[in-house]
Amino acid sequence: MQRIYSDYAYGPGPRSNCWWDETIEAPIWPQQAGDAQADVAVIGGGFTGLSAALHLAEAGAEVTVLEAETPGWGASGRNGGFCCLGGSKLSSAAMRRKFGTAATETYEAGEEAAVNLVAGLLEKHGIDADTHSKGETRLAHSPRALRRMQAEAEALAAGGEEPDFLSKSQLAEAGLNGNFHGALTTPVGFALNPRKYLFGLAKATLAAGVKLFQNSPATQITRNGSGFAVQTPKGMIRCSQVLIATNGYSSEDLPGWLAARYMPTQSTAMVTRPLSEAELQEQGWFSDQMAYDSRNLLHYFRLMPDRRFLFGMRGGLLSSPSAEEGIRIKLRRDFEALFPRWRHVQSTHIWSGMVCLSRNLTPYAGPVPGQPGMLAGLCYHGNGVAMGSYSGRLLADLAQGRQPELPYSQVMQKMDKFPLGRWRRALMPPAYALLGLMD
Ligand SMILES: Cc1cc2nc3c(=O)[nH]c(=O)nc-3n(C[C@H](O)[C@H](O)[C@H](O)COP(=O)(O)OP(=O)(O)OC[C@H]3O[C@@H](n4cnc5c(N)ncnc54)[C@H](O)[C@@H]3O)c2cc1C
Repeated sequence: MQRIYSDYAYGPGPRSNCWWDETIEAPIWPQQAGDAQADVAVIGGGFTGLSAALHLAEAGAEVTVLEAETPGWGASGRNGGFCCLGGSKLSSAAMRRKFGTAATETYEAGEEAAVNLVAGLLEKHGIDADTHSKGETRLAHSPRALRRMQAEAEALAAGGEEPDFLSKSQLAEAGLNGNFHGALTTPVGFALNPRKYLFGLAKATLAAGVKLFQNSPATQITRNGSGFAVQTPKGMIRCSQVLIATNGYSSEDLPGWLAARYMPTQSTAMVTRPLSEAELQEQGWFSDQMAYDSRNLLHYFRLMPDRRFLFGMRGGLLSSPSAEEGIRIKLRRDFEALFPRWRHVQSTHIWSGMVCLSRNLTPYAGPVPGQPGMLAGLCYHGNGVAMGSYSGRLLADLAQGRQPELPYSQVMQKMDKFPLGRWRRALMPPAYALLGLMD
């Protein structure tokens, strides 16, 4: 596998000390070995791969999932658990300019369908994933951001909606007190324990007849008549179709079409020890809303049902033990700046992982050009709990040769190349610097 970060990014270092590991035991899947057949081979065992596999198996297909590492090893087992609207980094206005109104409205309907899909999967398969929060709350990080938020709330009111807007003086009463200037809540979405959701999905997938393999990286995909042969270290899967679901852990050569079309970037999160009632009151944060601030380089946070506080932000641009140490220090510093009354509260767990961007700043779900029978779903811009699950569902329909049942926008059918090829990470420092300046 040809990947664009150093080996450290793809090893155990960044994910060591991930809180979710302590909340549920990981299942053990066998390692793939020998020559086997399937209708569909899915590469990657995160939300995208498992959702695709589940929906395909429910429609009667024989499916094999190959996971290079262990269950929950990728971003799906180590994220912030915000199941919310998102997946693109384009504003609605920019999306309308680029793709047109109809495609944008279909995309936005898809974002909502994605959240509903996850809620439906939790219910249908009886997955208890410690959910909480009614929608998500955006907090203004500056007076200027507050003015923009106010204008947004006024526009919503003019359109007949009832915006859930809070001024600075109302934040404390709502239990949302920190270094913020106001808040606007979007009433869609909820928070969950991502690892419990993922393993619940895996259990449902197994029950539907899917074969799940760990420590089984696809090392090569070659054409085999009208289908494919997918090589693993100890065997091979011959199949009619292949779905690529590797997101931030993708490689340049699997398939070659992906080269320079995805940009892995890091995200870092921490969890504190449980906070006492007195500590919650002292800071004035006792709401269970999942929340984020209005920065371009945003922070996301939520008080979880066990009273631990989860806090995360973008990760570093480099991946090495010292870079990881540096970003963990910065994360802690930002946490203390936003929640000064919790300076003494220890963060017991800190970890990082890969998210994935595209040049178009939109997710992709669709065919791999020039490879009939191969499909890919990736690039959720740090928002793949709902969008990855939904993308998997789209891929399952597409693999069956039918128009997806859920909204499927043109917005998700374009994936251009970044400039600079394998060296495209050099684009990120100036981009982050600019976004930081705008904040
Ligand atoms: C710290 C952090 C916080 C985040 N917070 C949120 C959040 O709050 N809300 C939200 O919506 N999103 C969040 N995200 C993003 C979200 O986790 C991802 O978008 C989503 O999990 C992507 O799912 P996936 O299945 O596409 O990819 P992944 O879960 O990354 O799975 C890809 C898998 O592919 C495997 N793989 C790679 N190559 C091969 C190969 N050759 N053969 C076999 N397997 C292979 C990898 O081992 C990996 O397990 C966060 C991410 C991180 C890292």
